[in-house]
Amino acid sequence: MSANIMDGKAVARSIREGLKEEVEGLKKKGIHPGLAVVLVGENPASMVYVKNKGEACRSAGIYSEEHKLPEEMKEADLLRLIDQLNKDPRIHGILVQLPLPAHINKERVLASVSPEKDVDGFHEINMGRLLIGQEGLVPCTPLGIMKLLEHYHIPVEGRFAVVVGRSNIVGKPVAMMLLQRNATVTICHTRTKNMGEVCRMADILIAAAGRPGMITADMIREGAVVIDVGINRLDTGKLAGDVDFESASKRAGWITPVPGGVGPMTIAMLLYNTVKAAKMATGSNP
Ligand code: NAP
Repeated sequence: MSANIMDGKAVARSIREGLKEEVEGLKKKGIHPGLAVVLVGENPASMVYVKNKGEACRSAGIYSEEHKLPEEMKEADLLRLIDQLNKDPRIHGILVQLPLPAHINKERVLASVSPEKDVDGFHEINMGRLLIGQEGLVPCTPLGIMKLLEHYHIPVEGRFAVVVGRSNIVGKPVAMMLLQRNATVTICHTRTKNMGEVCRMADILIAAAGRPGMITADMIREGAVVIDVGINRLDTGKLAGDVDFESASKRAGWITPVPGGVGPMTIAMLLYNTVKAAKMATGSNP
């Protein structure tokens, strides 16, 4: 058996085209969605992400501005900039690119972004809303995973989902979203015993550990849906997911590739959240 591929690149493209049309419609009503991306320092990967995010915004017709700040900047100055962006009516979404330099308190900075402009969904208020099932802005990668499942009409209700990883940006929020869709959810982490056994029970297996190739075919139930969130740069320079695609794709029913799976969905969801924030701010119909 060979798994069906969940083509995140194609799904993301069609979402982005839909958003572009929506932005055109909003502009006719005098609403121009805007995103501000804040980058502190010169982390090469972050610089690429910020550039890609800016380009993605512009291609969807979203106004975007990038604030590139020196590594040694003071936290107080960063908080002042975020305060200005919180008050700026042209800006509906604010994204602070992580990681931040060690001398800056990440939690304080993320909490300083207005929850209504928190397009990364990392603010404690939005995390809390997700936990209690209230409407809010939710993290882009988990949202992208849910949209992929939806696109391929993969049922979630009543199914057994296993999430490997418990980070605040992927593992925990995706587990909450699956729970909200009435899956039965188990979260694995480094202290989990019998990981293979737990994973083999999954109808839907989400791998978000950041360990290349750690999910092998023997950990997958025949016909399961396997979503690979991992993006790992190997010594060879190649990108690899957390799933051993070669063997896993012979056992899974559905699988996402890396690259071209969850990654493109994440950026599409950033645009989605920016448009959503603009609609919320202007009282425009969702
Ligand atoms: P993270 O903050 O490092 O969290 C990794 C999680 O995986 C932790 O909860 C950790 O458990 C668990 N883990 C690590 N090794 C494990 C093992 N051997 N067995 C069981 N659990 C293990 O990572 P993250 O930010 O969530 O990212 C995870 C991966 O997704 C990375 O490869 C990252 O690059 C990728 N990612 C991709 C996208 C995308 O757009 N596709 C977006 C975000 C992240 P403990 O809590 O016990 O330490």
